Amino acid sequence: MKTITIDGPAAAGKTTLSRIISEDLGFVYVDTGAIYRALAFYMKKNNIDFKDEIKVCKNLNSKIRPSGEKIFLNNEDVSNFIRTEEISMGASIISSYQKVRDYLLDIQRNIGKEFDCVFEGRDMGTKVFPMAQIKFYLDADIETRARRRFNQLKDKGENPLYEKVYADLEKRDSQDMKRKHSPLKPASDAFLIDSTLIGVNEVREKMIGIINSKWAKI
Ligand code: C5P
Repeated sequence: MKTITIDGPAAAGKTTLSRIISEDLGFVYVDTGAIYRALAFYMKKNNIDFKDEIKVCKNLNSKIRPSGEKIFLNNEDVSNFIRTEEISMGASIISSYQKVRDYLLDIQRNIGKEFDCVFEGRDMGTKVFPMAQIKFYLDADIETRARRRFNQLKDKGENPLYEKVYADLEKRDSQDMKRKHSPLKPASDAFLIDSTLIGVNEVREKMIGIINSKWAKI
């Protein structure tokens, strides 16, 4: 199976580019952040404090299944409940626990065994698929990312405060980069792309160019 990984901080454009690239190639798109979010949603629904590591780790018994753009938790479609700031932060907190990461590892690897995929996340290239044929690390400066997230929230009809969006992103990035287990960082063999000054189409062209030239050599 062929695996392409796209890692990077929040709001760097991973979702947009992963969707486009997977469509271009006819690959399955897998948003691994949604898997962590679904688990955080389960904890919230069951009144389990995200910060209570022991309790969170005692409650790793739900079935999580991504399917296209949807995510199922114990056979219930929870896709519409996982995109809140509370769940973003909850996912970031529980994803720092080793047992949580181990629990979710097989779900991700099993999909990669069945399909040609584009996986989006934080540790796809470093930990989950170290043998992936092509790895990308997509980044942009924090002001650009905060502005993009702010506009996304406004487009969804919300009334966000730019300073809060900025502060939440900064906190989540710091938690994701400084955690002990599978911290966010580029794989040593990843192609680094900074999208601060370039738009989606240019990033797409860069990525497809890299994929075509690597594929031709394999
Ligand atoms: O990508 P997204 O922002 O939806 O991810 C939510 C959170 O899930 C991240 O902030 C990160 O803490 C965690 N995550 C992770 N490893 C992944 C994907 C997401 O730790 N592969």
